[in-house]
Amino acid sequence: MKGLLNIDYTYDFVADDGKLTAGKPAQDVHDALVKITKDFIDNGDYIIFAIDAHEADDTYHPETKLFPPHNIIGTSGRDLYGELEVLYQENKDKDNVYYTDKTRYSAFVGTDVELRLKARGITELHLVGVCTDICILHTAIDAYNKGFDIVIHEAAVQSFNEDGHKAALDHFKNSLGAKII
Ligand code: ZN
Repeated sequence: MKGLLNIDYTYDFVADDGKLTAGKPAQDVHDALVKITKDFIDNGDYIIFAIDAHEADDTYHPETKLFPPHNIIGTSGRDLYGELEVLYQENKDKDNVYYTDKTRYSAFVGTDVELRLKARGITELHLVGVCTDICILHTAIDAYNKGFDIVIHEAAVQSFNEDGHKAALDHFKNSLGAKII
């Protein structure tokens, strides 16, 4: 069984005026990311949206000293970007669509993502979203350690760091044994 993890494709990470935006490179993967997500939904495959959620002025959070405030709970910066928000709203009540907040880079940390995937017999995990070298990378490493087969959709991941994006793609392939398609 295969499943899709849809990571952090929100206004703050993608829009021109997002708070921690990857900008145009992230906007350029919009159509591919939406199509892949729609195909998974239409095929009845399982999809998890794992979306960064932060409290304002959280002095205890390790990202506070690393990045400007982003994806603050209750702000529109957390909305999914573009047509992905529309697609999610249209399908969010389906049994095969699940949304969870996450508070760390990896979608597996502090969430029930692993339990949900394993309960459904999912062994092949597809990843799309941003940023390739931060949240996608940390999620992929956890997925590898938990024994999932990993598929990265190259046309549907991006970063604000071009070098980091490329290095992460190499790492997925050469160190995590991921299939890059
Ligand atoms: Zn964050």
